[in-house]
Amino acid sequence: MKQRTPIKGVLLALACLCVFKSAWADKSEATRMIAEIMEMTRYSEDYTGVSAIDSAVLEAMREIDRSAYVPKESRAFAFANRPLGIGHGQTISQPFIVALMTHLLNVQGTDTVLEIGTGSGYQTAVLAKLAAEVYTIEIVEALAKSAAALLQERGFANVSIRTGDGWFGWEEHSPFDKIMVTAVAPKLPPKLVDQIKVGGVMVLPVGEYDGYQELMLVKKVSDTDIEQRIVLPVRFVPMTGEAAQYD
Ligand code: SAH
Repeated sequence: MKQRTPIKGVLLALACLCVFKSAWADKSEATRMIAEIMEMTRYSEDYTGVSAIDSAVLEAMREIDRSAYVPKESRAFAFANRPLGIGHGQTISQPFIVALMTHLLNVQGTDTVLEIGTGSGYQTAVLAKLAAEVYTIEIVEALAKSAAALLQERGFANVSIRTGDGWFGWEEHSPFDKIMVTAVAPKLPPKLVDQIKVGGVMVLPVGEYDGYQELMLVKKVSDTDIEQRIVLPVRFVPMTGEAAQYD
């Protein structure tokens, strides 16, 4: 009878251990990231009026592997509570900001959400976990393509991505229950305001491209009226395209 080489067994055990260890490391890093988000939420409560992020948002962020959405060179920092470069001069937002904006949107399982500024697709993935349908627009074609491929590979079937200028929204699928914008606009984009459902909300940064910016929460109270609340001073990359002429 042929003897099994023990070395094969040892190698197999080592391989299993490595896979287990890296999966475990990812989970513990994600847990640490969530703890930092919770702590930062408490620090900023006086500004934001938010004392705790909704547990469904935190759970979605714990489940989505942020390291898959950042470039290979930045993987070591994937779970750090900071923004990271994603190429083309763009950034993936700081996890705390992703959590806060998603919390403010109060996404329900029946919602149709529009996102402007797909970037890496990370925020899109968080929204897709919580909403029924997500439409997302990215102006840089290469980013739109890579995010579309990544989200498809990771099994998100409720996301539609297109390359274009998000300043104009996505008329065919409007009105939206919720709209999130992840690039700073010099003023409220009028078409986006039009495309929010009555009773719906939009969260977006507004301000100067090189200066003061604020995160704003906009609620559509009737066909003609909105309520606005300033949430927090922030720092975002600029909305390019049509928006740039108003800066
Ligand atoms: N939500 C992204 C953050 C990306 S940063 C993430 O999680 O990775 C903002 C993104 O907005 C950039 O990718 C930028 O190219 C895009 N953007 C800027 N102006 C835009 C516009 N007018 N329409 C659509 N996308 C725009």
